[in-house]
Amino acid sequence: MKVDVLIIGAGAAGLMCAIAAGQRGRRVLVVDHANKIGKKILMSGGGRCNFTNTGATPANYLSANPHFAKSALARYTPWDFIALVEKHRIAYHEKELGQLFCDDSSKQIVRMLLDECAASGATVEANCGVQRVRKTPEGFAVHTARGEVHAESLVVASGGLSIPSMGASGFGYELARQFGHALLPTRAGLVPLTLSGKHQEHYQDLAGVALPAVEARVGKQGFRAGLLFTHRGISGPAILQISSYWQPGDDLRIDLLPDRDAGAHLVEQRTARPLAELKTVLGDALPKRLAQRLCEQWFDNRPMRQYRDAELNQIGVQLNAWPITASGTEGYRTAEVTLGGVDTDGLSSSTMQSKRVPGLYFIGEVVDVTGWLGGYNFQWAWASGQAAGQAV
Ligand code: FAD
Repeated sequence: MKVDVLIIGAGAAGLMCAIAAGQRGRRVLVVDHANKIGKKILMSGGGRCNFTNTGATPANYLSANPHFAKSALARYTPWDFIALVEKHRIAYHEKELGQLFCDDSSKQIVRMLLDECAASGATVEANCGVQRVRKTPEGFAVHTARGEVHAESLVVASGGLSIPSMGASGFGYELARQFGHALLPTRAGLVPLTLSGKHQEHYQDLAGVALPAVEARVGKQGFRAGLLFTHRGISGPAILQISSYWQPGDDLRIDLLPDRDAGAHLVEQRTARPLAELKTVLGDALPKRLAQRLCEQWFDNRPMRQYRDAELNQIGVQLNAWPITASGTEGYRTAEVTLGGVDTDGLSSSTMQSKRVPGLYFIGEVVDVTGWLGGYNFQWAWASGQAAGQAV
């Protein structure tokens, strides 16, 4: 079989690339080894797909080259994707901070992408894995489960390593290596953090306790959002966000009272409630079980009037920069994304084409561009897919 463009991976990036290339009159085949198309889109956003973020800028992405994503993101913006969603009459809403979700179901996004593929003449095949790829003088010979396919352009859109049960594989990285591309080390991102030893013992019975707003910080990076204690560690949006910046051994700090100078607050409370115990005062600002645990672990619980200013200020410092030692992450099993991947130095930022092998393209999560939580990762998939789709 001969096509102009063969795309490996029918996820967000691969389908968008197929639509753009098909609209340009290219003969396009998309193959995916999974038994169903768009599994990650289906499970995304709790089944409602947080399909973009209206505030997406290059600053919302991690990459060894922070400039790489600029061109593609500028040429296919959240508003371009919103226009597509509106054309298909899919109702959506903003949850918070520019995050757009379907009102109904992420199935609508998959349906929309498949309808657009069909309209542009692109063929999409599930249950079709790829075994081998060979360079030929005309392009590429690709050994698939349905036989050999010859293509002028080959687009690798096989995603990262997150959620292997959903079809994730290291295939894209292997292919990159085969063609001489450098890879940056991969690791799980947007993932819960684990605690171990005494750190886990101190907090494991708090599983289920949630704080609506903390600020999690690693170095200069901070995220203000919710935190949730789990059986094995900590999660919630603030932790998922900071997990992409955290590496074992890094100092993680959590501001448990981000809108307050906790020391000054405690000094005020001592005047207002001299007989109240510290744990009672803290229990008004924090979940009671957490307040009690902090008092057991860190602070000596006494009536407020027995504390000196210096002691309350010291407790305040701890509350505004709670040092919690994470031992690791929950790994690819639950991570939303994979950090690292195909080094952008080897790719054109305007087309995603390999600088080493003409006709070879890498798009989406397999590339070393990873977004924050909140619709940014799909926006990168759409934008990089569109950039390649315009070029193949
Ligand atoms: P994928 O969507 O992973 O697609 C890759 C495809 O390649 C898969 O279908 C896979 O089966 C196929 N494949 C892999 N290897 C082979 C092979 N050897 N042969 C053939 N096919 C192969 N991002 C957001 O922006 N908003 C969200 O709401 C959101 N929610 C998420 C929820 C969860 C639980 C997870 C895991 C991720 C979520 N993400 C979200 C991240 C987002 O899903 C990914 O960043 C995005 O899907 C990446 O798109 P992609 O096309 O590069 O890769």
